[in-house]
Amino acid sequence: MELGNLPIVSDVHIDGLVKSFGSTRAVDGVTLTVRSGEMFFLVGPSGCGKTTLLRMLAGFSAPDSGQIRFGNEDVTALAPNQRDIGMVFQGYALWPHMTVAENVGFGLKMRKVPKDEAEQRVMEAITLTGLTGMEARKPNALSGGQQQRVALARALVIRPNLLLLDEPLSNLDAKLRIEMRREIRRICKQSGTTAIYVTHDQDEALSMSDRMAVMNAGRVQQCDTPVVSYRNPSSKFVAEFLGEANLMQAEVVEITERLAKVRLASDQAEFQVEHAIEPAQAPRGVTAPLMIRPADLHAVLVDGASEAKLDPGLVALGEARVLDTQFFGAMTSVAVEGEFPLEGTLRVQSSSRDVDFGEGDRVRLYGPEAAMWLLPQDTPQA
Ligand code: ATP
Repeated sequence: MELGNLPIVSDVHIDGLVKSFGSTRAVDGVTLTVRSGEMFFLVGPSGCGKTTLLRMLAGFSAPDSGQIRFGNEDVTALAPNQRDIGMVFQGYALWPHMTVAENVGFGLKMRKVPKDEAEQRVMEAITLTGLTGMEARKPNALSGGQQQRVALARALVIRPNLLLLDEPLSNLDAKLRIEMRREIRRICKQSGTTAIYVTHDQDEALSMSDRMAVMNAGRVQQCDTPVVSYRNPSSKFVAEFLGEANLMQAEVVEITERLAKVRLASDQAEFQVEHAIEPAQAPRGVTAPLMIRPADLHAVLVDGASEAKLDPGLVALGEARVLDTQFFGAMTSVAVEGEFPLEGTLRVQSSSRDVDFGEGDRVRLYGPEAAMWLLPQDTPQA
């Protein structure tokens, strides 16, 4: 079911946007293009500028400099009601005295859409958001998830140029949040809506977005698909923000545009990994953080029976001592202290059946070359 004739939505261009509050540069020169029909996420820690950027897109706040365009149209100076934007925020702000259908239709009434067309569009939005049968209920007779659906239906019924969502799931309990992730994505995709979604929850961004911009201190650190951002982060900040990242200290032996030959100790065999480094910044002998995610790291008892069964293609990284193990049912998380150069302790996430060791045991660590990723050393923010 689609929402009738959507407007021809165009790309959203954000160009050099800056916004300061006193001496705080909340948004510090952000340039992005969100493509028509895309589900785009702004993600980052509290205070990184996500909401400030969203408020400028909505027209609630004017940038100090920079430009926002919908297609070729410069909307930077337009008032919120001239931008045809749908909004879904944390508090749903539904009208308590109106029914579901009246809440959904409110924006159409304001826009003086003829009654028959409005009724048709309200029904379409109600079907799309899975609210059929609840049209006559008042918001206080709905669950949190259902109220969220009404908020979405109300935003989409006006066929917005752009849908803005700011932490829309934060009032819901954990189980409902996960169910609504799927639903919001389905609804946006089915209606062809271009959406920009703000969250500090990296799992929400990874599981729902087409592309995501990871922000820190008012700047975009990386803008990529979830898979690329998670596997090939551009910096330690992005690597650690998007999930647990084990960081080893590798010596760069040789580097080309795409590949780097590295080793973890001078007596260790070299191996090849992909990287996020400007080759000129990494002369031979320099040390750089080598990332591997916990699920890609293998730990086996030193000289134990499982060692012989390992894929021979894995790189032996070094030996380590088990600090603790945490059983989570299907998988077990293991913290180890390595005996080779590391940044902190390492974490291994293994299938519980493969963990035949415990606290104090000595293990050998292995990882596939393809799952390791060399990062640039942090440079102080300019
Ligand atoms: P959160 O996830 O906590 O909502 P955020 O990433 O959305 O954070 P913003 O709300 O955009 O971050 O804030 C960015 C920075 O700008 C913060 O340092 C914040 O304190 C500051 N800031 C935001 N709005 C104002 C304001 N109206 N006056 C002064 N400072 C502000």
